Amino acid sequence: MLYPSYLAITLISLVAFTWYATLQIENLYLEQKAESLFEHARIVREVILDKSDWTNNIQDTLTRLKNESALRFTIIAKNGTVLADTDEKPDEMENHADRPEIKAAYKGNRGTSTRYSFTLEQEMMYVAIPLEKQEIKNVIRVSQSINSILAALNSIYMRIFIAFAGIAVFAAMMSLFVSTLIQRPLKELSKSMKEFSSGNLDHRVPQGRTYEFSSLADSANEMAAELVNRIEDYSRQKNEQDAILSSMIEGVIAVDTNERILKINNAAAGFLNTSVKNSVGKLIHETVRNSELLDFVAETLSSNGDRLERNIVFKEDTEKYFQVHGTRLTDQNGVELGALIVLNDVTRLRKLESIRKDFVANVSHELKTPITSIKASAETLFDNHLEDEAQKKDFLNIIIKGADRLYAIIEDLLSLSRIEQQSETTEIEMDEHLLADSIEAAVKTCEKRAKEKNIDVKVKCPKSRKAAYNEHLIEQALVNLIDNAIKYSEKDKSVHISCGNDDGYVTIEVRDEGFGIDEEHFPRLFERFYRIDKARSRNMGGTGLGLAIVKHIVEAHRGKITVESRPKKGSAFTLHLPE
Ligand code: ADP
Repeated sequence: MLYPSYLAITLISLVAFTWYATLQIENLYLEQKAESLFEHARIVREVILDKSDWTNNIQDTLTRLKNESALRFTIIAKNGTVLADTDEKPDEMENHADRPEIKAAYKGNRGTSTRYSFTLEQEMMYVAIPLEKQEIKNVIRVSQSINSILAALNSIYMRIFIAFAGIAVFAAMMSLFVSTLIQRPLKELSKSMKEFSSGNLDHRVPQGRTYEFSSLADSANEMAAELVNRIEDYSRQKNEQDAILSSMIEGVIAVDTNERILKINNAAAGFLNTSVKNSVGKLIHETVRNSELLDFVAETLSSNGDRLERNIVFKEDTEKYFQVHGTRLTDQNGVELGALIVLNDVTRLRKLESIRKDFVANVSHELKTPITSIKASAETLFDNHLEDEAQKKDFLNIIIKGADRLYAIIEDLLSLSRIEQQSETTEIEMDEHLLADSIEAAVKTCEKRAKEKNIDVKVKCPKSRKAAYNEHLIEQALVNLIDNAIKYSEKDKSVHISCGNDDGYVTIEVRDEGFGIDEEHFPRLFERFYRIDKARSRNMGGTGLGLAIVKHIVEAHRGKITVESRPKKGSAFTLHLPE
């Protein structure tokens, strides 16, 4: 587009200039001609007025003055009648009063007119001046054909036109050259801009040949580099934000004022059983089914900016408890963007709290039973002054049994809390030990009870088998398991203890032929104070803490405990310790 515009401007200027110049030349020529005709008219006037009686033989006088010049002289009276003429017979000539040059001369001015003479068939120039200087009665007119002038002008026009054509071609070529000079870098620039807009910001605008284009290219390249920096900054910030959000344990949801999800992190998507991809851009009620949470979002959006807090329960397969915080989101200028909701999964805390409450209740209950019997027996002894020694003994026995029970419970509770403290604060001390030695020591501790029930404890463990563990704790765990195996078996049965390996663990199995355990109890078997048959357990002197202690001990060793059992067939508890 640049070249045609250039060419048009150049040609229009050229045409205008040529037109103006030729007009000026033509005017100059004609003015000069008119001036020369006026000069002749004045001379003729002087000659005529020289004679006092000039009207006589005026025709002859004029003819003489004309001599052989190509000029034509005419004298016209005020009424337009031609008095004398050098070229025509005056009587045959029409009235000249309406001719413009004659009219001007009668008014005392110089009259000029250029027109085509049909009589002479030529383009003529007429000039007229008043004959009399005072009172104008007649007018003298001089005329001449201007065909020769027009011919001369035509030849000038021709030369001007040729020059015009030459200049026009030159101008066209120059325009083409200049526009190409400007267009090339412009095209480069526009190509580069397209590259930038298509995302290729590593592209660079080539340097132009002119200073202006070079600085334009520099500015464009600087702009692209700046954009790259900004985009990098922006994406780094975004990545950081995303990384922070996705690594948060708390669920975060940002919604706009129309409750459309702007952002949601992995944790929140997990809580809501959805994915980040499926939630962003959707309305919150399309993703969230929990009406309490939906109400909370709406409440946060219509709040006055205070931070809201609520406890919300999600009832799905399992109950989940959330502590939810909500704040309104505003930008730096205070314009409202929506709301930010933060979800804290407090299910574990709640469970721990309920375990703690249950534990306190259980401990109180467990302690209450022996204390009640101790108190009752002591009161009976105190109030009734019993004479019968046998009766006294019975009550004293109850008191001793109760005290033993209290002692056992407190002893178990203390060892539980000791193990807990040890495994929480420091790593427990572990050394290489021979499994057979530890088993033998545990069996020895339980020997008395086993003998009471005539239960045979059989050990099958290679002498050399070693593992790293805390000797005292593992012995305690084994004592608890062997003690249970004896407690929950009929008389004359056997208990089998064996060692082995299983998937990176050293195992010690304590198998009995006792009452067995129904599968439904397995999940809760290792909880504190969980007992299948409370009465039987108590009768056997159980506290309900034995297996909880075993579990704590193996977990402190980063191991695990498993159970296999069938009612009336027997049970097998296996300790797994890392090799
Ligand atoms: P307790 O002091 O009552 O024995 P434990 O924690 O050692 O408490 O055991 C919890 C419960 O598991 C017991 O009350 C008993 O019902 C059951 N149990 C544990 N070991 C065995 C076993 N070897 N055979 C059958 N039941 C067992």
